[in-house]
Amino acid sequence: MTSRRSTSATSADPSFAEFPSLAYDDHVKLFFPSAGAEPVLPVPGPNGLDWPGGTIAPEGRDYTPRRFDREKCELVIDFVLHDGGVAADWAARAKPRDRLGMGGPRASFVVRDDFDFYVLIGDETALPAIGRRIEELPAEARVMAFIEIADSAERQTFSPAASLDLRWIERSAGTFLIEAVKAAAMPSEQTYVFIAGEADMSKVIHDHFIAQGHDPDLIKAAGYWRRGEADFYDGHEH
Ligand SMILES: Cc1cc2nc3c(=O)[nH]c(=O)nc-3n(C[C@H](O)[C@H](O)[C@H](O)COP(=O)(O)OP(=O)(O)OC[C@H]3O[C@@H](n4cnc5c(N)ncnc54)[C@H](O)[C@@H]3O)c2cc1C
Repeated sequence: MTSRRSTSATSADPSFAEFPSLAYDDHVKLFFPSAGAEPVLPVPGPNGLDWPGGTIAPEGRDYTPRRFDREKCELVIDFVLHDGGVAADWAARAKPRDRLGMGGPRASFVVRDDFDFYVLIGDETALPAIGRRIEELPAEARVMAFIEIADSAERQTFSPAASLDLRWIERSAGTFLIEAVKAAAMPSEQTYVFIAGEADMSKVIHDHFIAQGHDPDLIKAAGYWRRGEADFYDGHEH
């Protein structure tokens, strides 16, 4: 039997009618209520957001809007199921009609669609952002994607218009993202590089591209989580 390492939560709610998500690496903040409690949402206060009536702030984590269907007001979020996380535990136990709080996206970092080439690199936490980018780029775009996953059961299929060179890097086969990226021949055309996932991995790959002479303005590298650190915040994206 293959163990389940990711799951999707789909939520349909009329309040999503105005949901704005312009960029593939947008994120929403999900707020996880304690067992049996209703979700609470922050309210604007004099010094930023406050919690109503002195409520203790619930745990919040960042997730990518993988897909949004405006007609159905339906939002899909994909969760990696790992051990010992508030969000991952919630997702592993979630049942139909369970409720969460959600805020955002607050702002979108929109990247042009007319670079010669796109290289997308990440682990499974970046799979929603990379999958969305692959499916949103226009037919003229050329994309190379490197995605590290546990094993072949975690592969997903995409429906791209763009031409796609997709490389799954499977830990079960003893292959890892950093080595795979370093060993690959990269496009010689003007290329925009997106890197996301475990923070140290993301920095090593970012630094590799810089060492190869890649224009720093054409790289976005983000730490989506850090090994051994709960509720990690990457305040300094490269
Ligand atoms: C902009 C952005 C977008 C993101 N989008 C997604 C998304 O769409 N889907 C998604 O699954 N994640 C996404 N993440 C990553 C997610 O927010 C983190 O993995 C988060 O730490 C999960 O919270 P948790 O409560 O489960 O674990 P935490 O309580 O934060 O961490 C508990 C422990 O688990 C470890 N841990 C955290 N994440 C992982 C992991 N993936 N694998 C193994 N160990 C881990 C931590 O190092 C820590 O030791 C995104 C992060 C950012 C910043």
